[in-house]
Amino acid sequence: MRRRVIAGNWKMYKTQAETRAFFAAFAPLVAHSAHCDIVVAPPFTALAAAVDAARGTAVGIAAQNVFWEKEGAYTGELSAGMLAEAGCRYVLIGHSERRQYFGETEESVAKKTRAALAAGLTPIVCVGELLADREAGKTEEVLGRQFRGGPGSLTAEEFSRILVAYEPVWAIGTGRTATPEIAAAAHGFLRKCAAGQFSAAAASALRILYGGSVKPDNIKGLMAQDELDGALVGGASLDAKSFAAIVNF
Ligand code: PEP
Repeated sequence: MRRRVIAGNWKMYKTQAETRAFFAAFAPLVAHSAHCDIVVAPPFTALAAAVDAARGTAVGIAAQNVFWEKEGAYTGELSAGMLAEAGCRYVLIGHSERRQYFGETEESVAKKTRAALAAGLTPIVCVGELLADREAGKTEEVLGRQFRGGPGSLTAEEFSRILVAYEPVWAIGTGRTATPEIAAAAHGFLRKCAAGQFSAAAASALRILYGGSVKPDNIKGLMAQDELDGALVGGASLDAKSFAAIVNF
């Protein structure tokens, strides 16, 4: 049985003070939630506050992005080593908003994933199709391409240390969740890609999170699917009570 992961992506929300207030409310609500790994991804400026507030809890802190070089003249970027030193244990890579607004490609996803792994971080590699892809019957073609260019380009050892998040772009921030069956079919396809590229054992060990308008009232139905190994939650992770209700589904 794969251990579940519930991760919150705060995107560009929350100051340091708001981060401290969130953890003061959230930590007691998940103090006994040992059934899954819990992750919170604050913006860079709130990472130190989050690491500090999460100390002594089971909550792991994630960055929302990383650059692949170790150091250098790359104004505005942060290396994986810097994030690890700051107390991060995870990093989101290739979120659809980064692909859409910041030119993230399969190649940059692969480079960032390798750099994160080399620094001891657990990458959460995001993939997902656009509504137009799904409507054109191209979901598997897109997921296959994203898988091959990103996670599929790793070594088997590297692959064993990543998490994948399936996030259909049409379900992110729209209130339109994929049905549990649609999500499970996509996860099954990604697992098939992993089996083809690596091995049946690697595929069955891979943890795949679902993301896209996950809320307290739909998490149970989603987690009823064996294929879904957790959730990556945007909007509903900003409120301590709502995110705790998702963690404690
Ligand atoms: C996300 O940002 O990864 C996400 C899934 O957002 P939301 O839950 O708001 O759709």
